[in-house]
Amino acid sequence: MALIVKKFGGSSLATPTLIMHLAKRVSADIKNGNKVVVVVSAMGKTTNDFMAMAKQIAGQPEEREMDMLLTAGERISMSLFSMALNSLKIKAYSFTGSQVGIITTGEHTNAKILSVKGERLLSALNDGITPIIAGFQGVSNSKEITTLGRGGSDTTAVALSAFLNADRCEIFTDVDGVFTVDPRINSNAKLINEISYDEMLVMAHLGSKVLHPRSVEIAQRYNIKLLVKPSFNEGDGTMITNAENIESVKVRSISSRQNLALINFKTADGNIVNLMKRLNKANVKIELFITKSNDSISVVVDQEKLNELLSCTEDICTSVSINNDIAIISLVGAGVSTDTEVLEKILAITEKYSNDVFGFFTDKIVLSIVTKQPYVEKISNEAAKAFNLLG
Ligand code: ASP
Ligand code: MG
Repeated sequence: MALIVKKFGGSSLATPTLIMHLAKRVSADIKNGNKVVVVVSAMGKTTNDFMAMAKQIAGQPEEREMDMLLTAGERISMSLFSMALNSLKIKAYSFTGSQVGIITTGEHTNAKILSVKGERLLSALNDGITPIIAGFQGVSNSKEITTLGRGGSDTTAVALSAFLNADRCEIFTDVDGVFTVDPRINSNAKLINEISYDEMLVMAHLGSKVLHPRSVEIAQRYNIKLLVKPSFNEGDGTMITNAENIESVKVRSISSRQNLALINFKTADGNIVNLMKRLNKANVKIELFITKSNDSISVVVDQEKLNELLSCTEDICTSVSINNDIAIISLVGAGVSTDTEVLEKILAITEKYSNDVFGFFTDKIVLSIVTKQPYVEKISNEAAKAFNLLG
C-alpha cells in the first residue's frame, strides 16, 4: 500500500464530467489498496474570471480581499470532487487550506508556507476518509486567509507530501509531462522521462508553467518523488529526481520567455546605484541585469512593467533607449555553460542573427540568449535539432 498525493490542475477539472472522470481514476487507486490525498486547483479559468470581476469593481483591489475571492475557486472544485468520490462509494471529505492547518506568511497573494499542522488531514486518513484539499491557499498566524501565488496548488501538494512523508506526489495536467521544447513551438518536442530537481527548478523559474517553482524547491529539500502526469491518458509522464539517479545530458531542454523589453539607461550624475534604488523602491521586478559601465545600465523587464519603470526613473536619466518585443531563450542542462562543443554549436546557430542577438548569459546549468521575439522559433528549432531534442 502506498500513500500518494495527487494534484489536479484547473484544465483537468474544467467541467463536472472531467471531475467525475478523475474521481473514477482516484477510486481505482483506492480500490487497489492505496491511500490517496487529493489536492485540487480551481475549475478551468475560474481564477482568471474572478480576477477579471475584481478588476471591474476596483482597478487595484485590496490584496486581502483578492485572497478571499480567489480561494473560493478551489472550494468549488474540492467540494465537487468530494461529491464525485462519494457518489462512487468512496468516503471523502473536502477541506480548505486553513482547515488542514497550512500556515503561511501574511503576504497576501504571494504567501509562503511556514508549516503544516495537518491534524484534520491525519485524522481523516486514519478514519479511512479520502481528504480533498483546496490547493493554493493557507492561513497566516494572524488568521488571515492567504494564497500562494498563481499556480500555487502544486506547492500545496508537495508541502502536504513532505508533511505526510508520502510515497510520491503526482501532479496531473492536460499535457503529457515536461517536454524538451515547448510543443507549441515544435510539435516534434520529446517528452522528458526523467529530469533533475535543479533542471526542473530552473525551467520553472524560466517560465515553464508545468510546475510552480516553490513546489520543486520543497520537493528537492525533502527528497520527494515528484511526477508530472497526464490527466487524460495512462502515460508515465515525467519524473523529477536527484541528478545522481539519472543520465546526465548536455542539453535537457529549451524554454523561452517573451513580451520583454530591453532598456538602456544613462543617468545624469552617473549614479547607477541611485537608479537601481528607484527600481527597488518601486518594486519593479527585473528579468535580467545586463551591463554595467560607469554611468549606464541595461535591464530586461516584462513589457507590462515598462511604464512603471520609466516613470520612476525619468527625472534622473539623461537618455533611455528601449527595445520592445524582446525574448530570452534558455537552454538548460549540465553542459550548457561549460561544454565548448555546446557553445560552439550555439554560437554557430546564432551567428546568422547576430544583429538581433543582444547577449549570452550563463549560470551553472543555464545558457540564456537575449534576442528579438521573431527569432525564438528559428533559434529554438535549430538548437533543438542540434542537441537531439526532437522526436
Ligand atoms: N487556481 C490558482 C491559479 O489559477 C492556483 C493553481 O491553479 O495552482 O493560479
Ligand atoms: Mg499549474
